[in-house]
Amino acid sequence: MRTKIIGGNWKMNTDRAAAAALGAGVAAAAKGAESVQVAVFPPFPYLTAVADSLKGSRVMLGAQDVYHAEKGAFTGEVSVGMLKDCGASIVLAGHSERRHVIGEGDDLVNLKVRAALHGGLHVVLCVGETLHQRQVEETNHVNEKQVRLGLRAVTPEELARVVIAYEPVWAIGTGRTATPENAQDAHAHIRAVVSDMFGREAGAALRVQYGGSVTGANAKSLLSMPDVDGALVGGASLKADEFAAIVAAAG
Ligand code: PEP
Repeated sequence: MRTKIIGGNWKMNTDRAAAAALGAGVAAAAKGAESVQVAVFPPFPYLTAVADSLKGSRVMLGAQDVYHAEKGAFTGEVSVGMLKDCGASIVLAGHSERRHVIGEGDDLVNLKVRAALHGGLHVVLCVGETLHQRQVEETNHVNEKQVRLGLRAVTPEELARVVIAYEPVWAIGTGRTATPENAQDAHAHIRAVVSDMFGREAGAALRVQYGGSVTGANAKSLLSMPDVDGALVGGASLKADEFAAIVAAAG
């Protein structure tokens, strides 16, 4: 049995007070769902404020990105050590907005994945196809490439700290959700790729989250699919009660 994991990606939203309040709301929601792993990904400047509001809860504090170098002349970047110092234990890598808005490629994503794992963090590696790629039936090819390149040189021991988030680009922030069947197909393929890379047992243990316009209303049907092991939630994670409904649907 894989423990379901629900993550809230707050993106570039909230202010210090709202982030602290939302953190407290998520901590309360997680109390009622002991069987679900919950994580939140606030903006960098509010990590410590949210760490305070999560104290005593099982909610993991996460960051939305990380840089692979330890320190030095990398203006604007944040290291693994800095994230850990702020209380973070998990980080997103290769989120669609990093890939498609900021322009990150697979090689940089891989460096980030490896640096975060090497430093002891858990990693959510995000993959997913654009609408055009789905229309020309390249979904599995794109996911496979992003998984293989993203996990290049990751050790089997490190893989135990990796979650993959399948997030079709066309479903993120659009209100258009993949059907449970579409999500299941993509997740099964991703699991098969990881099994090919690391062996059947590792593939079976890997958690694959779905992300893309998940709400309290559609979470249950997505989470009921056999290879959907959780959700990465953007917009709906900004309201504690809506996020709580998604956490409850995973319980
Ligand atoms: C995300 O940011 O990872 C995401 C899935 O966003 P949304 O839920 O708003 O589509």
